Amino acid sequence: MLINCHTHTMRSHDSSADPFKICRSAVEAGLGGIVFTDHCDCEFHELCDFNRLFVSARQDFLSVNAKYNGMLRLFFGIELGDPLFAPSFANRIMKEHDFDTVLLSVHAVRYSGVTEPFSQIDFSFKDDAFIHGYLEQYFNDVLLTVRRFDFDILCHLTVPLRYLILKYRKKVDLTMYSGLIDNILDELIQRDKCLEINTSALKYPGGFLMPDENIIDRYISRGGSRFSIGSDAHSPNDIAAGLDAAVKLLLKKNVKSLCCYKNRQRLEYSIV
Ligand SMILES: [Zn+2]
Ligand SMILES: [Zn+2]
Repeated sequence: MLINCHTHTMRSHDSSADPFKICRSAVEAGLGGIVFTDHCDCEFHELCDFNRLFVSARQDFLSVNAKYNGMLRLFFGIELGDPLFAPSFANRIMKEHDFDTVLLSVHAVRYSGVTEPFSQIDFSFKDDAFIHGYLEQYFNDVLLTVRRFDFDILCHLTVPLRYLILKYRKKVDLTMYSGLIDNILDELIQRDKCLEINTSALKYPGGFLMPDENIIDRYISRGGSRFSIGSDAHSPNDIAAGLDAAVKLLLKKNVKSLCCYKNRQRLEYSIV
């Protein structure tokens, strides 16, 4: 029974998903558990009252947990995005709530004059030099974020490719960033943190896992063994989308267990 460690509810700005419907879909899909990981994109902390938002998210969690207890293992988490933009706020929000699981993500890059989330950037007319500089800064920002902050799982490493390749049809050669990516993987391994295999880009034509097989191989060859899976679902229909594909690939790599987190403590469960 798989545990989906990355899902969004109506408490995220980009989702209207009812947590009860998410749980019903998860049970129907045969999942063993899910983690609610609503967004907290730190650069917007002055515009959005995240503290109040997570008080509400916690209430939702307790209500669904009361109903689904025994049918589904439920965990209360956060997707902490872009903490480099507001480090003290990021540290504060994690202390003020009892999260089971903290996902770490980068959705916006500190790149000259283009610091909005990459989901909002029109890359159509950006040339190769811009794309290269942007991606290099993305990996540098991920590395710094992984080094500086407290978290459990690094989520969707390489996620700008979902936009650059699948939406804007840009050509990207990831080998140009191998050194930086290896530094990120080494940092995860040294700090005993988990690498998420995110399946949200699989649903698009030409879609891929984030990170891809090559990066998964490099993580394993450097000694990495902590994996979680996440569909990053923003609607109940997507709750289990692609998770089987991620597990199939991990089994091929001889990975026998996956991670989830309860009270910030790692739990491992077998997938064989
Ligand atoms: Zn994300
Ligand atoms: Zn997410």
